[in-house]
Amino acid sequence: SDALLLEGIEKTYNPGRANALRVLGGAALRVEKGEVVGLVAPSGAGKSTLLHIAGLLETPDAGRIRIAGEPADGASDRVRTRLRRDRIGFIYQFHHLLPEFSALENVVLPQLAAGSGSGAAEARARDLLDRVGLSGRLDHRPAELSGGEQQRVAFCRALANAPDLLLADEPTGNLDPGTSDRVFDALLALARETGLGALIATHNLELSRRMDRVVRLEDGVLVPG
Ligand code: ADP
Ligand code: ADP
Repeated sequence: SDALLLEGIEKTYNPGRANALRVLGGAALRVEKGEVVGLVAPSGAGKSTLLHIAGLLETPDAGRIRIAGEPADGASDRVRTRLRRDRIGFIYQFHHLLPEFSALENVVLPQLAAGSGSGAAEARARDLLDRVGLSGRLDHRPAELSGGEQQRVAFCRALANAPDLLLADEPTGNLDPGTSDRVFDALLALARETGLGALIATHNLELSRRMDRVVRLEDGVLVPG
């Protein structure tokens, strides 16, 4: 099955009102396992709306959604919550790390919440943090890390529970080019190794050239980039 399948996704804000705004008009997208797809669009085109719909944070007016093969449109809140927790990893521009916990703990805790044992959770957290060059920062709290380091911890946290699908909104916004490359290399390696599929909104042309594929959001539909 695919990591993500969207078909005929429609979304209008303020429907039936004078200020009605049709943001998505039949958007369709398939992200295969192991595939890293870039999403580019001008500001206001509906990128966040699409990512929120794919992440089951927002409901479309119409359309079909499958996450790792499982139908999510019309699913109960309980099922959507489970899919979000077990199948989807999110990276936002503002990362919301837990301020009172260390980098290591920020990557361990979501795994404990999902039922992993502490030994396995810590081993996985150390591996992920090592892949993005943070082995020397395990005991630092977010306030003791640079913006770019915090972003890298957020990346590891998003992947902590080995999701099938990673959704990211401008994930490398805070990173200098070298670090951004390194995080992207880690993402590509994980996609190849584990079949993780990723949809990454970015304005970074350099980065989008390294993706497997780019789609553009234009007039409410997705077209090849
Ligand atoms: P992008 O992420 O591409 O900048 P968004 O998905 O955030 O675009 O928004 C797309 C359009 O929909 C924008 O014009 C925005 O103002 C509008 N919009 C977003 N959320 C809402 C909302 N809750 N109610 C009404 N309009 C909204
Ligand atoms: P914004 O105006 O940037 O959309 P929000 O207050 O809606 O700000 O959300 C802050 C961040 O948290 C956003 O990047 C949004 O994508 C994310 N977010 C919103 N709702 C949820 C949720 N229920 N679970 C996880 N992340 C969320």
